[in-house]
Amino acid sequence: MSASMRKNVLAEINSSSGYSGIEEHSAPLHSFLEYATSLIFPILFVLNVHWAGSLLYELDLLWLIGLAIPLGVLGGDLVSGIVHWAADTYCSVDTPVVGPSLVKPFRMHHVYPRDICTHNLVETVGNVCILAFPLLSLCLFLMWLIPESGLLAFVVICVALTSAATVATNQFHKWAHQEKVSGFARRLQRMRLVLEPTHHKLHHTDPFNMHYCITNGWLNPLLNKIKFFRRLEATLAFFGIRTANSVNSTQHRQ
Ligand SMILES: [Zn+2]
Ligand SMILES: [Zn+2]
Repeated sequence: MSASMRKNVLAEINSSSGYSGIEEHSAPLHSFLEYATSLIFPILFVLNVHWAGSLLYELDLLWLIGLAIPLGVLGGDLVSGIVHWAADTYCSVDTPVVGPSLVKPFRMHHVYPRDICTHNLVETVGNVCILAFPLLSLCLFLMWLIPESGLLAFVVICVALTSAATVATNQFHKWAHQEKVSGFARRLQRMRLVLEPTHHKLHHTDPFNMHYCITNGWLNPLLNKIKFFRRLEATLAFFGIRTANSVNSTQHRQ
């Protein structure tokens, strides 16, 4: 068997097992940011919730937290769906900045879905912590600027909870692909509080263009029913922003 044939056979075996067999690590600066913001994120989250929650308590509006929790969880699921859909549908792995950091991991995930299981906690959640850091810092700044606003405090709690759900998303996504998970994770999956493996399998099944939400997938049935992502694609196409597939097919025809 020639070297190239052996390489193809190995790639096929790895592909069917879901693992690429390749260990990829972030560049040093990216890795530093992943670790630093993964440590800072819980502190920023607690500060935001404590500060905003104290103000709501003083204003007799603490009941709003009962509304903020489901909104935050649904917000996280929606953000996960939109980011996932955008990375699957637009640009390419060669697009500057977002190509290697966002598009490539999602595209490779379709070929080797179990590679995510080889990532440690920081590699799993770090990218989202990098994005959440400026957002939660801005929330603290706004609360310092407008310290008496109950509306702002409510919005800040919603944003903090949405950020936490989004940070946890890749961990839930990882559990959905693991051959074995802890009893705690399995219980959460059975209760549908986090992404359930058979539900997520629908995204990894032909035609591969639905069920993008990966926090707990609660929004998938609704978004599928109203053809949310197809309508979004049609709207963007109207403004001349074409999907990667339509760009590729045009290039092939030329
Ligand atoms: Zn995908
Ligand atoms: Zn997946």
